[in-house]
Amino acid sequence: MVALPPLREVVARHGLTASKALGQNFLFDGQLLARIAAVPSELTDAEVLEIGPGPGGLTRALLAAGARVTAIERDRRCIPALEELGAAYPGRLRVIEGDALAIDAPSLFAGKPHIVANLPYNVGTALLVGWLSADWYPWWQSLTLMFQKEVADRIVADAGDDAYGRLAILAQWRSTARIAMPVHRSAFTPPPKVMSAVVHIVPADAPVGVRLDRLEAVTGAAFGQRRKMLRQSLKGVPGALAALETLGIDPARRAETVSVADFVAVARTLS
Ligand code: SAM
Repeated sequence: MVALPPLREVVARHGLTASKALGQNFLFDGQLLARIAAVPSELTDAEVLEIGPGPGGLTRALLAAGARVTAIERDRRCIPALEELGAAYPGRLRVIEGDALAIDAPSLFAGKPHIVANLPYNVGTALLVGWLSADWYPWWQSLTLMFQKEVADRIVADAGDDAYGRLAILAQWRSTARIAMPVHRSAFTPPPKVMSAVVHIVPADAPVGVRLDRLEAVTGAAFGQRRKMLRQSLKGVPGALAALETLGIDPARRAETVSVADFVAVARTLS
């Protein structure tokens, strides 16, 4: 066991008052952090990309689980605290100061890293969409991401759920997505207004003969007018109404009732 000073002491010593602008809500509970670090599976000697390590609570848990961590953090104030942590795990923590939205992360790795992050939800959602839109199989092994509960529900939703939409289809058409654990707002310092959840996503075989841009054209049109019948909302997508007929999908249905598999089948017809 590596002996480290208490996280709250590190935060105080480095003056890491939580910045609202950077969406900083820190986790200090070692047991909770260890449970999150256990979500990706066995991490001994595995490469992990952590986005937004902040003062390094989750980073500690990942290192303690045996991972080799590359951490991208935008807040310069956090870098000395992270470097201190790196000194306790020689050669196992690489700290990169920068904006994760601007960094070419795949180029940092020879193999496929697990990605782990507790990020402000707008940054997290933008990164998630990029990761899910990668060439398949993607350059990452799994995603373990903290989101506000409402966003987590949108990622794992099934057809018929209120939260079902484009994000669920993007996350599920060639991956499995599940909520690994709910996280109470009181676990964070300072506590955010809403509850959170950790989502775990693992890539799967991509359906044969389906182009992502076609799938997105169909789901974009269908959910752009989600209360309308498909015969109305898909009018502007060339070939889509004919595809519904060929596949026996009732054009009087609304997007929110159509399964991921059926959207994939429509997109395949257009691909
Ligand atoms: N992982 C730490 C924890 O769990 O206690 C901190 C979580 S805090 C919610 C989000 C972290 O992401 C902050 O440290 C913030 O500075 C960082 N961050 C925000 N936007 C970022 C970006 N675009 N690129 C990299 N890091 C970012």
